Amino acid sequence: MEGYMRFEVVLTEQANAISQEHMLQHYRKGVLQEDLCFAVWQPSTGKERRTALIDEILLPRPGERNLHGNVSFEPQYLARAIQTAREKGAGLVFMHSHPTDGWQDMSTADIEAEQYTLAYPAGATDLPLVGLTLGQDGYWSARFWESNNQQMRRHWCEKVRVVGPKSYDFHFNNRISPLPERRNILRRTVDTWGYESQSTIGRLRVGIVGLGSVGSIVAEALARIGVSHITLIDPDIIEEHNLDRLLNATAAEIGQQKVQLAAASIAQHATADHVSTTILPISIHNTPAYEAALDCDVLFSCVDRPIARDVLNYIAHAHLIPVIDGGIAVETNRKQSTLFSAHWRAHIVTPFHQCLRCNGQYNSSMVIMELDGSLDDPSYISNLPVEQRASNQNVFPFSLSAAAMEVNLMLRYILSPSWWPLVRQQDYQFVAAETRIINEECHPHCSFRGRRALGDKERPFYIAPVSVEPSRSGLLSIWRKFLRIFGMVCLSE
Ligand SMILES: [Zn+2]
Ligand SMILES: [Zn+2]
Repeated sequence: MEGYMRFEVVLTEQANAISQEHMLQHYRKGVLQEDLCFAVWQPSTGKERRTALIDEILLPRPGERNLHGNVSFEPQYLARAIQTAREKGAGLVFMHSHPTDGWQDMSTADIEAEQYTLAYPAGATDLPLVGLTLGQDGYWSARFWESNNQQMRRHWCEKVRVVGPKSYDFHFNNRISPLPERRNILRRTVDTWGYESQSTIGRLRVGIVGLGSVGSIVAEALARIGVSHITLIDPDIIEEHNLDRLLNATAAEIGQQKVQLAAASIAQHATADHVSTTILPISIHNTPAYEAALDCDVLFSCVDRPIARDVLNYIAHAHLIPVIDGGIAVETNRKQSTLFSAHWRAHIVTPFHQCLRCNGQYNSSMVIMELDGSLDDPSYISNLPVEQRASNQNVFPFSLSAAAMEVNLMLRYILSPSWWPLVRQQDYQFVAAETRIINEECHPHCSFRGRRALGDKERPFYIAPVSVEPSRSGLLSIWRKFLRIFGMVCLSE
């Protein structure tokens, strides 16, 4: 684990609700009584960040803990928790509550319990102990205990995230991730949603997959609202036919990478104190881009490719990184001379939202076709019925609306108080000038349901270790055959 620069914890809303209800039960009755519980965690490993994913809480059974103002656990509770973690190939989590608010420091007794009593036995799971403290206001704080030359070393987490159906909550460690400055340039933005919301937005790590017509506008919006860490993933270069829709592109940029242009525009238009951009001019299914995506808190899916959508569907479910996906569909009439209809959609994807396969954004055979190259094979495409051919018709105002819909869906998810209604998807029909809210769920047998919070255990089989673009590199026919057979087995629901 040496070498990771950042550590984090993310809980599902269920794990959050169950542990909070248990550990805050006494404070809520006005009794100053701490409480504790164990849980299990799965690792999610990015390029620079290691995240503990927590979806399952192991509440104490009668007699497994003792309450005396402070709280202590019996050895059989610890043994049961370690046994459960081992059975699941998971790590051990220890949680306890404090009667104070906000990010919690550790008392001498806390350090002794975690460093000496728990971190060594937790080694039986082959993963480090993760410790969490819950303030009485519901604010989490967390650390990892890593074994280093017979010593247990503490790594404080940068933040704790909670992913739910209606909201996405952030609990920051201000010492590692300092509060953003109150800058005059952002005065109107802060006047809109308050400094507390701005302090979350300003510290987000956001990834954009696809820097075309929609992605370039999403990047602009993030830079303007003060997001300070932006990761840009796209293998494409700017061509002449992009200039009618690609924000900030001029003829001088033809031949440049789309990620380069986006990074340059962000540097010019950013309103954050300091902005850092990471650029990856490769596809999301190449390991460096995949790992960089796992370092993000939110991902925008602005690419109309089945592989990218499949990868992002995995990341949203297995790694608990919410994905905001969108798409534009245009239909021109038969003679291709007038607009027949257009609509654009945006969706949030997490384990609490419909996945991209169930909502029809892609299917398994499209992934295989992109992997083996037939999706881009002109002879294959010309044999398809007209209605099945990918349509690339689009105009700047449609992209503008779709990008705005995606960014606003993210903002709403992060800023919403509990009384705002649930919105999973939006669909705007251009002809009817009508927005519909769609709150459908996954099919009962959707395979992504079982991938929830499993982290590194769930990785698409085609993630390539080196930077290659399979659909354009002239793959051997044997590889195609292998993909057809093996791929369909792996992707079948
Ligand atoms: Zn304590
Ligand atoms: Zn699904």
